[in-house]
Amino acid sequence: MRSGIAERLAEIVGERHVLSRPSELLVYNSDGLPGYRRQPRLAVFPGTREETIAVVRLLADEGLPFVPRGAGTGLSGGALADDIVVIGLHRLKKILSLDVENRRATVEPGVVNLRLNKHVAPHGLLYAPDPSSEAACTIGGNVAENAGGPHCLKYGVTLNHVLAMTVVLPSGELVELGSKVGERDGYDLRGAFIGSEGCFGLALDITVKLMTKPQAVRTLLADFTSVDQAAHVTSAIIASGIVPAALEFMDGPTIRVVEDSIYAAGYPRDAEAILLIELDGLEAGVSADLEAVRRICLDGGARNVKVARDDAERMKLWQGRKKAFGAMGRLAPHLIVQDAVIPRTRLPDILATIRAIGEKYGVVVCNVFHAGDGNLHPNIAYSADDPAESERVHKAMTEIMQACIDAGGSITGEHGVGLDKMGYMESIFSESSLNAMCELRAVFDPERRSNPGKVVPVHACKEWHAVPGGRLRMDT
Ligand SMILES: Cc1cc2nc3c(=O)[nH]c(=O)nc-3n(C[C@H](O)[C@H](O)[C@H](O)COP(=O)(O)OP(=O)(O)OC[C@H]3O[C@@H](n4cnc5c(N)ncnc54)[C@H](O)[C@@H]3O)c2cc1C
Repeated sequence: MRSGIAERLAEIVGERHVLSRPSELLVYNSDGLPGYRRQPRLAVFPGTREETIAVVRLLADEGLPFVPRGAGTGLSGGALADDIVVIGLHRLKKILSLDVENRRATVEPGVVNLRLNKHVAPHGLLYAPDPSSEAACTIGGNVAENAGGPHCLKYGVTLNHVLAMTVVLPSGELVELGSKVGERDGYDLRGAFIGSEGCFGLALDITVKLMTKPQAVRTLLADFTSVDQAAHVTSAIIASGIVPAALEFMDGPTIRVVEDSIYAAGYPRDAEAILLIELDGLEAGVSADLEAVRRICLDGGARNVKVARDDAERMKLWQGRKKAFGAMGRLAPHLIVQDAVIPRTRLPDILATIRAIGEKYGVVVCNVFHAGDGNLHPNIAYSADDPAESERVHKAMTEIMQACIDAGGSITGEHGVGLDKMGYMESIFSESSLNAMCELRAVFDPERRSNPGKVVPVHACKEWHAVPGGRLRMDT
């Protein structure tokens, strides 16, 4: 039997686009971080912007909380709905306009990142932010998480590539943030919304900046017999003044798990670290940079520096990197992917600390990360069904995160806070900063109904107190 609210949602989007049976909702009870599970009460999938607005307005009239969801590839538990409504936006997948001359496109929030790039590529254009999940994640989810990716070292994160958005506030009101033509006077509300993790409402139409594809691209693979050498070479490349388009690091355990998988890229299995370095720009400059980077790698102890000969070889090298988390699925049923930022110069000692923590708790930490901007991803594959192992993994990750904070770093570089990082918020923000975040949220969502219970710890925001009977009313 559908509840009353499910029936009214079905009147808006059609019966088959509302799910209410627990078995149907199972697939929405986690995101890319399978250690967290929350069962939604209902899921609704609007197919047009009008339907989306009507859904939000109905939930507003009823005072019901909801969670926006894109592709569910998030790595912080952000899209999980605890007994409330999920608004799935994946059916909103139209590329609404492409303005080649002014290098911008307007897309619906459910457009998959890679699809946008395939659409604009024949015009010699590209959309720079390229999360490793680009084949699945949505532009709406990228906006909500301020997503990064390997090429954000040179080109910047989502925030630097979104010009404007139409947003449905949780009240159902539509607002335009930013401007398609560039900077506007006044407060940067577009900037405030990007990275708001679904807590400020839903991003609907999103206008993004496109870049002209670089004339030349070269991808190098440098391999090392020591993690330490690769970490020092990372710092040396950046210190040389060259800004690679990407500078990615994979350690020995990651190399071997990738090489054992269908994503095998031809990485040397006996290496303890590899750097995947991409240089792009004008042909002459790229050739000079390539020689300089090769020299830095060899001087820093690289055994080999291989340069991809063609696009097929480049794509293969990138496939291994971008599918590394997927390859780790071979090791155990669950994977905890962490995301921290440290000052780049601290890379060698933090990697040594991570290794020591792994040994202390008897867990294997696989490191694959955006080294150029000091954005670490330590990962541990484990079985959540084994309580003793889960506890060791949890302790190891907590110590790793604390080591990153102690090194002057931060708790997330690109995956957001969601549920996973909430417990660390008070380690890096003062009470007054957390209060300021709550107050900013209240500007967009005074009733705190959009993605409640995420990002800022509940006791700091008193979120649930602000949604009186929010859950109970679902029963009626
Ligand atoms: C294999 C793998 C590799 C990854 N690599 C990277 C990487 O390199 N860089 C990186 O930054 N991330 C990476 N991620 C994380 C993830 O893909 C990104 O955070 C991505 O932006 C999430 O998009 P999504 O559509 O899946 O969003 P979801 O997971 O569905 O949602 C994420 C958050 O966004 C909110 N949200 C979704 N859509 C909207 C909307 N339209 N309006 C408002 N809020 C919304 C949700 O409420 C939730 O809080 C990776 C994930 C995986 C699984």
